Amino acid sequence: MSAHHPHDELLVSYAAGTLPETASVIVATHLALCPACRKSVSRAECIGEALIQDIAPVRMEALALDSTLARLDEEQPSTTVAPPVPSGDPLLPRPLRDLVPQGLQALKWKTLGGGFRYAALKADGAGRLGLLEGQPGKATPHHGHHGDEFTLVLSGGYTDELGAFARGDLQCGDSTLMHRQVVDAGAACLCLVLTRGGIRPSHPVLRLLARFLPF
Ligand SMILES: [Zn+2]
Repeated sequence: MSAHHPHDELLVSYAAGTLPETASVIVATHLALCPACRKSVSRAECIGEALIQDIAPVRMEALALDSTLARLDEEQPSTTVAPPVPSGDPLLPRPLRDLVPQGLQALKWKTLGGGFRYAALKADGAGRLGLLEGQPGKATPHHGHHGDEFTLVLSGGYTDELGAFARGDLQCGDSTLMHRQVVDAGAACLCLVLTRGGIRPSHPVLRLLARFLPF
């Protein structure tokens, strides 16, 4: 069970279908690993459908919203959220498969130094989506961000000033977040990362080098 989830605004935007593709992929990948958020999105979809019915110019015997809310405790199948389907690469939930069709080893990995490597997947208005892998015990430099940063753990885990993150956990950071992520011992940590604006290392020399980072 995940301990860190998307904020409500992000889930509602996902349910409404208004997110850019990169943001939609990272939320959908979290949903594939998080039954609690799948249920939240299903509820948002039900409410959205009922609201649309209520504003339609057709007289109804009872408000569709009221009747839908009354049914919300029943399990509602989601129209947009598919449960995880086991297949070839157990690290890659279904929403990621189209972006990694040949598997992780076929991606163009860029070595970042310090025990980390990065593979770009897609970019759009929400930011740059890619995979970041860190070796056991390695740590990122202490850094802030010029914009939002979403980090979803796919395997292994890491710890920063805000807590511990494991498979399925999504860390949602913004320009106020300052942290140093330390990969757990014992196994590499693979994360799906969406960044907008890039990172801002605390160390001045690293700040100069940050302009050459691929995210
Ligand atoms: Zn969740």
